[in-house]
Amino acid sequence: MRGGVRAVGTAARPLARATRRISAARGLTIIGWHRVDGQSDGLSTGVDDFQRHLDTLDEWGATVLPLDAAVAALEAGTLPDRAVALTFDDGYASVVETAWPILRERGLPTTLFVVSDSLTTDLRFAWDRHEPEHDRLRLARPEELVAAAASGLDLGSHTVSHPWLPRLTPDELKRELVDSRVALEELLGRPVTSLAYPTGGWSPAVRAAAADAGYDIAITVDRGLNTRRTPHLSLRRAFVPTEPEDLRLLLDGAYTMLRPLDSWRRRGGPAW
Ligand SMILES: [Zn+2]
Repeated sequence: MRGGVRAVGTAARPLARATRRISAARGLTIIGWHRVDGQSDGLSTGVDDFQRHLDTLDEWGATVLPLDAAVAALEAGTLPDRAVALTFDDGYASVVETAWPILRERGLPTTLFVVSDSLTTDLRFAWDRHEPEHDRLRLARPEELVAAAASGLDLGSHTVSHPWLPRLTPDELKRELVDSRVALEELLGRPVTSLAYPTGGWSPAVRAAAADAGYDIAITVDRGLNTRRTPHLSLRRAFVPTEPEDLRLLLDGAYTMLRPLDSWRRRGGPAW
């Protein structure tokens, strides 16, 4: 997967030069990671690479906003130039243990999307089962999430069990969306209004169900800049490529031109 990301970045480089600093100032860029630990590999981002990503954001002149405030500003037309929102999917413990302290130190607001089954079971994701037992695969415990939330980490839902939502029946879909929101609200004692679709799997029906389930914001893995016309329940986002120069391409808007690749992914391509 990582090789693919790098290859895409290389292909986009000439295109990026043509649009540099044009599109980036006019919308909201949402980026994401999964876990931050020893070294960059698969879903993991090494701590050094993560720091380089944050340095790149700083050098690029990003204004990092809380996700809900960013979307509200997008709606109101008051978004600052180079606005960026930061997200993490899946709820790995390394986010609260390692990434969040770094982000806090830098004053960068962040949203972590949590699978609510992890609150009550010793969940291990299917894609992690082939890996040897390792602490980096551990998901954050409820008390860790509560403590992180108390120190400012924003939490959103990543459904109950991380299914591919477009394949579910309406009842199953409702359960995944509503039960996860309610479980997180009970844990945190406050409303939870944001959602990240597992593996970015969404459809118009899924998006309508997310609205019915009480979400104001939902994040896909369709890449590209969010503008005032982007529906708030199918916001675009890209996961951060390891190399800072590829992150810079992403920030410059190059990935917006690669959106046709994302329609393939949305039909059920592999991801997480
Ligand atoms: Zn996920």
